[in-house]
Amino acid sequence: MGEEKKKFIVESERKSFDIKHRSTIRFNMSKYEQAFEKGLSQFTDLEAIKQKVANIKRTALQDWDVYLEQFEQQITQNGAQVLWASDAQEALSHIDAIMQKHHAKMVVKSKSMTTEEIELNAHLEHQQIEVVETDLGEYIVQVAGEKPYHIVTPAMHKSKEDVAELFNQHFNTPIESTPQELTQFVREKLRDKFTHADVGITGGNFLVADIGAVALTENEGNGLMTTAFPKVHVAIVGIEKIIPSFKDLNYIWPTLAAHGTGQNITSYSSLFRGPKQEGETDGPESMYVILLDNGRSQLFTKPEQSRALACIRCGACLNVCPVYRNIGGYTYNSTYSGPIGSVITPHYNGFGVFQHLSFASTLCGKCTEVCPVKIDLHDLLLLNRQEAVQNNSDWVWDIAMKGYQGMMQNRFWMDAVPGNVMNVGIKTVLKGKWGKYKLFPKFSRQSFSQQYKKAEKIKHNNNDGRRI
Ligand code: SF4
Repeated sequence: MGEEKKKFIVESERKSFDIKHRSTIRFNMSKYEQAFEKGLSQFTDLEAIKQKVANIKRTALQDWDVYLEQFEQQITQNGAQVLWASDAQEALSHIDAIMQKHHAKMVVKSKSMTTEEIELNAHLEHQQIEVVETDLGEYIVQVAGEKPYHIVTPAMHKSKEDVAELFNQHFNTPIESTPQELTQFVREKLRDKFTHADVGITGGNFLVADIGAVALTENEGNGLMTTAFPKVHVAIVGIEKIIPSFKDLNYIWPTLAAHGTGQNITSYSSLFRGPKQEGETDGPESMYVILLDNGRSQLFTKPEQSRALACIRCGACLNVCPVYRNIGGYTYNSTYSGPIGSVITPHYNGFGVFQHLSFASTLCGKCTEVCPVKIDLHDLLLLNRQEAVQNNSDWVWDIAMKGYQGMMQNRFWMDAVPGNVMNVGIKTVLKGKWGKYKLFPKFSRQSFSQQYKKAEKIKHNNNDGRRI
């Protein structure tokens, strides 16, 4: 068994029985559920808008090379520089070159899972560059020395008391501080960072091909400040985020907001089309867009699994997943967790290492039901499982399963081993593998077939040979 898989199993069991973790997640999820219901109620025909958004994303992906080039051409005309990165290493090299060119010593960042994917913070800190997360949830996990727990709500695993305690330890704020007081504290702290940062780094929710824009949506205004104060703006965006037209945002933005946070529309929705133009007073003097592949074109070659590239990272599938809700975000040990993470991580980070995530699902289908871009997540998980099984063909296992199949199809062999022997056998074979909290199934002494035959015989005898 691979190391990642072993860690996953151990951590899943630990988290599932961590009562505090469970109650914090339940509480925070219940807030989301109420907002989610309300957010969806804005649509008179939810299925129609989901189909529309799914069509937009599929159209974009069918010709993503054309749209990406159009995006590059448009934004370059406005003075931005587009840099292509085939993997994390290349993206980090581009960042290094930008930091050196602009003599950067401090960076402010708005929330971006793409930068998590390339482990940007650790890389910059290693270069002695200060990195400050400016989204409140991201700031909390940064102070705690953790990674985001959830793709939309990074600090979902922390209660308000946890945050008060964390800030008390790090900044000596009163332990009884309210969320409002702590938010005010962070706001004041960050203001200074925004005005002194050399570079602002953001992700991007979408790349808009026809107008050459990076579309960014956020709730705290920190994304706007990250791009307004520093002289340099760097956007790092996955190439699958391309959409054909500005008009598509009419459908995509409300759909993302409703599914992500239950809002009608996210508080701040911005379009960045290049650096400050002549005569403009605000904005960065230089803008770079790093287009990250990092496994996406590899996934694109798989006709079925490539449907996962349509994801708009709303997080809804994580929130409804019974596995995610019990084992939590960190157990996956990957940038993207939950159902969508289990589908794409093996393709992005190495199939052999992460294929066990394909089995981290009950296949209940709730993820597919809520997905605003109609990705059939549970089907894709099954396809990953199929690939995992094919990749790990083991002749001993195959012969054993063939033998088992033969026995199960033959009544004589099915009844050959008495139930009490099977009860001892299963405990011996699965010792240490079954998990200490699960009960072993209990086989009855005789099979149903044997019991039925026996009952029939008794009835027959009792009725002098007359059948009822
Ligand atoms: S797969 Fe669908 S539900 Fe899950 S994060 Fe992506 S868009 Fe949202």
